[in-house]
Amino acid sequence: MKKMEADVVVIGSGPSGLAAAAQAAENGAKVVVFEKANVSGGAANMGMGPLGIGTRYQKDMMVEAEVEQLFKEFMDYTHWRSDARLVKRYFESSADTIAWLEDTCGVQFAGAYKYFPKSHATWHIVAVNGGIGRNGGAIMNKAIRDHAVANGAKFLMETPAKKILMEDGKVAGAVGTDASGEEVEVRCKAVVVATGGCGDNPQMIKERTGYTYRGDMYNFAIPGLKGDGINMVAEAGGGTTAMNVEMMYLLPESDMGPDCIPAVFMQPNLLVNKLGKRFMNEEQMQNTTFTGNAISFQKDAVAFSIIDSRIARQYMKKGVDVVNFVHHPDNVADFEEVVDAQIANGITDIVKADTLEELAGKLGIKDVDTFIETVDEYNDMCESRDSLFYKPARFLKPIGKGPFYAGIFHPGGYGTLGGIKVDETMQVLTQDWDPVPGLYAAGTDTCTIYGDSYMFLIPGNTMGYCVNTGRFAGEAAAAYAEEN
Ligand SMILES: Cc1cc2nc3c(=O)[nH]c(=O)nc-3n(C[C@H](O)[C@H](O)[C@H](O)COP(=O)(O)OP(=O)(O)OC[C@H]3O[C@@H](n4cnc5c(N)ncnc54)[C@H](O)[C@@H]3O)c2cc1C
Repeated sequence: MKKMEADVVVIGSGPSGLAAAAQAAENGAKVVVFEKANVSGGAANMGMGPLGIGTRYQKDMMVEAEVEQLFKEFMDYTHWRSDARLVKRYFESSADTIAWLEDTCGVQFAGAYKYFPKSHATWHIVAVNGGIGRNGGAIMNKAIRDHAVANGAKFLMETPAKKILMEDGKVAGAVGTDASGEEVEVRCKAVVVATGGCGDNPQMIKERTGYTYRGDMYNFAIPGLKGDGINMVAEAGGGTTAMNVEMMYLLPESDMGPDCIPAVFMQPNLLVNKLGKRFMNEEQMQNTTFTGNAISFQKDAVAFSIIDSRIARQYMKKGVDVVNFVHHPDNVADFEEVVDAQIANGITDIVKADTLEELAGKLGIKDVDTFIETVDEYNDMCESRDSLFYKPARFLKPIGKGPFYAGIFHPGGYGTLGGIKVDETMQVLTQDWDPVPGLYAAGTDTCTIYGDSYMFLIPGNTMGYCVNTGRFAGEAAAAYAEEN
């Protein structure tokens, strides 16, 4: 067995573990990080940026974003089923964290953006080649890691931690196994757990959230996110919380394919369920949480976004009505061609049919009459108003001329939320609310602040929560190690 010593051990190096390691090292602690994968960054390597409120970007862009206003909005949204002290601290620190990322770690941001028109411009997108691109999160992660390493933090890659050592009721170290199979024991005063939840553990997802992976939940299963930290903390005497999924919706096969397909089908098109009925104001399709929730409620947790050839041509010629930074092709002029090619390649989450009856058959809508009635009723409303769900007139486009196209949407999840009970200093608490001396946690393993539904109206919210709570945990763990 290899033996090492540290003040603070961090388990996991996604944005929360990286921020914890960097902050603890910056504050003078000797830090060792266990990381299961061969790269740091976790799920955030696929993301674009964290939340900030009251930042210099917002001031420069004359965007109104005040902690007081957004805190009130957030707490109304969650019905106060949330740790208000933690939310307040996170929001209040977020501008300083954006400045820390920029000035201390060297991250460059493209600016502060909305995710969709009704959201706030809190999403600080990390610049990719000086502009907006996907995966800026990976650039941010590398910068935080470099800062941690510059301050002496040591990373043990491909070395999953498997146990937190407790002696006399206090943290005494952590044990992992390296890539060669050898055990590594690091004695320390404080441990920060930041393992990113259990998105890659279907059994734990079922037990803790009730969803069936690839049944009624097509979440991102980032390899290695097995719930290790949540289980290790419980074994060490820490308390557990309810867990949830950070809800979204997606085309399971096409979401990561050519952008024109998700970009077209995520428009506020006619959306029906398997019973052939509409079930929401499709304008809300921009809010991925609301739409994922609504789809979850439908028969077989599935929904069909439908357009006809006239709408397809309109998008191809003039561009889509609603754009976002995630699926943002310059244009969708090749939509028809791409759909044909993808269907020929065996993609099954998009469908094309010459008649509505044929479309219903391909989508598994048994009650064809109800579906045709829905389309007729919808077409009538396109000439007056949406008296059913009040979708704005500009998004009402009749379905008349074949061929018809449908995208088959399922509920999805960026990952799981919650699992470890903490206070606003990120100190782990027992089920009885007593501190577990020396034990801290951060990031999605601890994130129960949204109540029942992820808060997409203030975007950048999970990565923001992760970096900020990582810093809180790193700071507290370093101070505890120094005192003890
Ligand atoms: C496609 C996509 C896009 C996203 N975009 C955004 C965005 O733009 N803005 C936003 O706010 N949020 C975004 N998110 C969400 C955000 O990325 C996550 O909430 C965030 O990465 C969670 O951070 P974390 O540190 O808690 O966990 P993770 O990032 O999941 O990292 C956990 C780390 O722990 C490691 N680990 C696991 N078990 C062990 C173990 N036993 N020992 C050692 N290491 C272990 C893992 O290998 C991993 O490196 C996105 C998510 C996805 C999937």
